[in-house]
Amino acid sequence: MRTYWVETYGCQMNLSDTELMEGVLASSGYVSVSSPDEADVILVNTCAIRENAERRVLGRVAELNRVKTSHPDTLIGVCGCMAQRLGSRLIQDAEYVDMVLGPDAYRSLPEIIEQASARDAGVVDVGFRPTENYEGLEVRRQSGVSAWIPVQRGCNYRCTFCIVPHTRGDEKNRGPDDVLAEVRDLVERGITEFTLLGQTVNSYRYDDWDFPRLLRAVAGIDGVRRVRFTSPHPNDLTERLADAMAEEEAVCPQIHLPVQSGSDRVLKRMVRRYTRAEYLDKVRMLRERIPDIAMTTDIIVGFPGEEDEDFEATLDLVRSVRYDDAFTFKYSPREGTPATRMKEEWFVPDAVAQERLERLIRLVREIAAERNMDEVGRTTEVLVEKRAKRGELLQARTETNKVALIPGPDDWIGRYMDVVLTGTTGATFTAFPIESRQERTSRVAGAP
Ligand code: SF4
Repeated sequence: MRTYWVETYGCQMNLSDTELMEGVLASSGYVSVSSPDEADVILVNTCAIRENAERRVLGRVAELNRVKTSHPDTLIGVCGCMAQRLGSRLIQDAEYVDMVLGPDAYRSLPEIIEQASARDAGVVDVGFRPTENYEGLEVRRQSGVSAWIPVQRGCNYRCTFCIVPHTRGDEKNRGPDDVLAEVRDLVERGITEFTLLGQTVNSYRYDDWDFPRLLRAVAGIDGVRRVRFTSPHPNDLTERLADAMAEEEAVCPQIHLPVQSGSDRVLKRMVRRYTRAEYLDKVRMLRERIPDIAMTTDIIVGFPGEEDEDFEATLDLVRSVRYDDAFTFKYSPREGTPATRMKEEWFVPDAVAQERLERLIRLVREIAAERNMDEVGRTTEVLVEKRAKRGELLQARTETNKVALIPGPDDWIGRYMDVVLTGTTGATFTAFPIESRQERTSRVAGAP
């Protein structure tokens, strides 16, 4: 019996790819173990978006090399976007890495492992496979409650800061029949919540299918209670999509809509292909149809050429949209992307970018806390996902994709429950299930 251990960094697509790799390994007779020290094969699924994150992961891979001291035959593989970006350079710099697999190589994982065991030199597979959509493979899902469904891989946009088109290649979309069959199969296995994944998921096209049609078809499947999607590109957010979101009961009132900057000058240099006004029009279009929609976003500060007034424009946009949350980052130059070739004098000093980042984070947290405070006292439906990491509580999720912690037994996992939101830490809610609350109230009321 051969064993494996996988660690995952980065986005939901990587989490989904890990489920795929685990399925490929399980189909070949491998079993997962609870520690890297027990594994014959260690895989690290990596992200290349930011230099810091890459450095941390490289450090972790070096640390995993200690396993080889007691188990010299253990193979270490690096997968995902950093593997694709660095290719054989990874093995040259870290000779203990045995395998380097790009995001299109996972179907061949068992053969690559065999090759790596049979020879001294490492194996590198970072070729793009324009037709690889991983149809027909077993996926080993982490959750029995909700599922990621990749509907698209790669990206046709070329934002000047972004490494993704270099690591994941051009956009390729799965056939709708395959997507719908996968969802139906999972519904039969008891899963009720689905997140459709793609780098620019709403640019999805396949024959005469576009994303709104796919979304409606998934939402219309019997047994599907909740559908989400991530991440949409603002340019592909059409009225048809907003209508589908508003009209399909199963589509959650929530969207993660990356803006990146509130300044037209910066947006232009980023080649985001929309203006601030156009982005705000899309926000308005959504709120007209879905007034209580929760919105989150991604923002980069310190992009080359960002002046104080550009940054102020970003703060102003955040104040005007009032996001429920935002992922905020300092610009990180990525080798090979157009932004790294911009004029040297445009590069923002780190101290300035850091100060901007801190101001932005303060504003985002303040608004998120205000929005969440407004929800305290409301009754809402949650899906119970799992036992929370710490304490006695269960982790549940609202329709708007916010985490609520509730007291309760393990057999509530997978159930939809009405809860009252009783408090918030700013980002997360505490909540009380209504049934239990009523039981408690009547017990107290009936007490002598
Ligand atoms: S849309 Fe832009 S930021 Fe998003 S993955 Fe594509 S190139 Fe990167």
